[in-house]
Amino acid sequence: MTTKPHNASSSEALLRAALVEYGLRLGASGLSEGSTGNISVRVPQGMLITPSGMAYDLLRPESMVGVLPDGSYSGSLKPSSEWRFHRDIYLERPEVGAVVHAHPIHATSLAIRGMTIPPLHYMIAVAGGKTIPCAPYATFGSEALSRCVLDTLHGFKACLMANHGMIAVGADLAEAMRIAIEVEVLAKQYILTLQLGGPVLLNDEEMERVLDKFKTYGKQDL
Ligand code: 13P
Ligand code: ZN
Repeated sequence: MTTKPHNASSSEALLRAALVEYGLRLGASGLSEGSTGNISVRVPQGMLITPSGMAYDLLRPESMVGVLPDGSYSGSLKPSSEWRFHRDIYLERPEVGAVVHAHPIHATSLAIRGMTIPPLHYMIAVAGGKTIPCAPYATFGSEALSRCVLDTLHGFKACLMANHGMIAVGADLAEAMRIAIEVEVLAKQYILTLQLGGPVLLNDEEMERVLDKFKTYGKQDL
């Protein structure tokens, strides 16, 4: 993991508070109910991640668990059972600063069928490609699941996870959450249009154009 100059104590306190806030948003947005899903942010020494099996409305800044690249952690709470794929994403993707994993109803329904979301709307490009792929199934919390996720997420900012849920990554929590919400919207659109006879898809050439526009879309400084 990369090391950046920082004011360690104040920036870590802000990130712990942000994890509390985004955990609450995960529930409020309908992306995850109860204690399902988990979120993390990169810190210079590794990552901060939500603890395992705790309802988001019970989390406090001090509940967040610091995990080092070797998997060791500090504090009295256990890290999310999915710390491996969070850790492996940070190791493999230096541009990623935050990871959101959730079990939203529409994205997960498609994942239960092992389906890829095709280019049914130009917003598919939000996940960085022409589709949103689905990672093969492996047991939650396993190294095998981390491998499945990393292989599928390769170059993308989101993917579905067979018989499980979805993952979104971003430079920060705001971006990862925005992508997670959009993936769930696209999944809902896909399910609804399948009921209407199937979506009319955008072609390859159009998706190339959209992906090109997305390099600057929404970035006021470019
Ligand atoms: P944790 O509560 O351990 O984060 O697990 C939730 C989950 O979604 C497992 O895939
Ligand atoms: Zn999960």
